Amino acid sequence: MLAAKPAAAAPATLETEIFRLKLRHTWTTVMSSSDYRDTLHVRFRRDGITGTGEGAPIVRYHESAESARKAVDSIRPYLEQADPRAFRNVLNEVFRRIPEEWAAKAALDIALMDWVTQKMGVPLYRYFGLDAKDAPVTTFSIGIDNPEVTRQKTREAEAFPVLKIKVGLDTDEATIDAVRSVTKKPLRVDANEGWKSKEEAVRKIKWLETQGVELIEQPLPASMLDEARWMRGKVNIPIFGDEACLRASDVVKVANAFDGINIKLDKCGGIMEAYKMIHTARSLGLKIMLGCMISSSATITAAAHLSPLVDYADLDGNLLIANDPYRGVTVEKGKLILPSSPGLGLRPV
Ligand code: MG
Repeated sequence: MLAAKPAAAAPATLETEIFRLKLRHTWTTVMSSSDYRDTLHVRFRRDGITGTGEGAPIVRYHESAESARKAVDSIRPYLEQADPRAFRNVLNEVFRRIPEEWAAKAALDIALMDWVTQKMGVPLYRYFGLDAKDAPVTTFSIGIDNPEVTRQKTREAEAFPVLKIKVGLDTDEATIDAVRSVTKKPLRVDANEGWKSKEEAVRKIKWLETQGVELIEQPLPASMLDEARWMRGKVNIPIFGDEACLRASDVVKVANAFDGINIKLDKCGGIMEAYKMIHTARSLGLKIMLGCMISSSATITAAAHLSPLVDYADLDGNLLIANDPYRGVTVEKGKLILPSSPGLGLRPV
């Protein structure tokens, strides 16, 4: 009897790992408070090239690192046989096969785009025809804390010319007062859906306008679009949607409720979807911010490669952790400095 023919070896291998990022400071927003975050890391290997990707699961959308890993593992046989050079087809198939689980999709998209641009021998921003010198300044984020810690964090952020301040609880005035007791820098404020009525939001924004705040992100719950529209006519600073605008298909829906949108790779499913959002938003006259979750330099560098296309960057998630496994994009006086080596340009630490 003939032995069964061994199956042909897959041309690619895919590795998944849940990586625990340790935070420098306990990170508190309206939504949660924690000392660490688990993200999903993905490594796609083929032809001697390793593409690295990462996705930060978002609890608000019922994602976890474990559910992201399961989603990626569920399509492993497809990915190991697929031709990554036709990455648009591959990513369309990934989006078709994985329902929800945007962080998992982001991790795969980033790993594939890293692989493809390494294979092409160009830095990722060159694939999009961009110039690294157009990368914007990034804000540094200050999570919610008591006034003393807020002052200390503000001092530690001395190198950053613009700060992003998390608010949305009943301590907002004390938080801004604490920041203002240390610095006169321009501030961007993120309420993370924390204010519950349009009247409260207008009252708070009017006060923030007197405090050198240049824009406000997601003052009201994501579903309150009519209220956001009403509010926009009552205040002077731009209002950005974040939780209200997850993916490209949301951009048109929120376009007349906000002045701009905050795009995140983990929220939309990766680089190619973010690119689509950027162009949709531009065509509707919206301003664009590229934001992030708490992540390592893998996701932050991937987003930074798109940053020459946007007006504002809030790409500091890697600076908030103590055990970043990679070095990629760096920051000089707040400005994002993109790596010039092929792909994302990540180096292990
Ligand atoms: Mg936000």
